[in-house]
Amino acid sequence: MHIERVELITVRMPLIHPFTTSFSTQTERLPLLIRWQAAGHAVSASTVGAALEHVVGHRMAKGALEMAILDAQLRLRNMSFAAQLGVTRVSVPSGVSVGIEKSIPDLLGRVADFVDQGYARIKLKIQPGWDLEPVKAVRERFGDIALQVDANTAYRLSDAQRLRRLDPFDLLLIEQPLGEEDLRQHALLAGLLTTPICLDESIVDARSAADAIALGAASVINIKPGRVGGYLEAARIHDLALAHGVAVWCGGMLETGIGRAANAALAGLPGFTLPGDISGSDRFYAQDVTEPIVMKDGAVSIPGGPGFGVEPLPAALGEMTVHTLDLTA
Ligand code: MG
Repeated sequence: MHIERVELITVRMPLIHPFTTSFSTQTERLPLLIRWQAAGHAVSASTVGAALEHVVGHRMAKGALEMAILDAQLRLRNMSFAAQLGVTRVSVPSGVSVGIEKSIPDLLGRVADFVDQGYARIKLKIQPGWDLEPVKAVRERFGDIALQVDANTAYRLSDAQRLRRLDPFDLLLIEQPLGEEDLRQHALLAGLLTTPICLDESIVDARSAADAIALGAASVINIKPGRVGGYLEAARIHDLALAHGVAVWCGGMLETGIGRAANAALAGLPGFTLPGDISGSDRFYAQDVTEPIVMKDGAVSIPGGPGFGVEPLPAALGEMTVHTLDLTA
């Protein structure tokens, strides 16, 4: 396949509610979409990673290029991404990530909405000073719901005693408590907590996943295709984790409907034994670039159409586009 034309489209997507983590507060996203035009039939998305190896970092951009070619390849074959992965499930359980709110009553209101909507699992963002109280309040109010927390690197190993106080709340896991390069410290922390440690930011490729598993730094891994350079590397991490008995789940990076659909297919693989952050489009956006991904009865359907199985809506795309760059070969 020869790519004749690539168009980079930047869209502006306001969030319906500010999303605060220990890093920052987001009120909108500016995702980049790739529109391609290709000719011919000799296709291989698997060569993208090697072809871009000389470019240091920029994993999300590399992942976007790989996605564009993978989608083209699959559409030429009239095959869905799920079918290519060998996924036979038709839906995956849908969890939701709840940001740091201004107050405990505000948080309880947000969680109540998501519990009422039927989400299969709730994740609370935490940071020092917003950890024990919100977890306690949510457990007391909502009882035995599937609950986990995400610190986004906000703690140090010296906070271990405070983090141990989360153990009685029977959380599914604590996600990325320490810095992204602190694999050894995560291994030490794992020996001090009964709550399973999940790594997110530390896992940037299959190699770092292998290191984390070998060191005992994580008993669970959050796989984000955007963070690891694409869906093929994400599938490799899944395979590695499955071989070592490490559970995985699919994280979210406030994807558009395109990424959300692809995540649902990935999460259909057998090692994804915990609900992911694959929520409905309406969790974040009043208007998606595709038909909205819908959470129903605690699950999101895996698209069965060719490629990633979703199409941008021309009118919505037109309204949201803030910049385009045309790269013609
Ligand atoms: Mg995370």
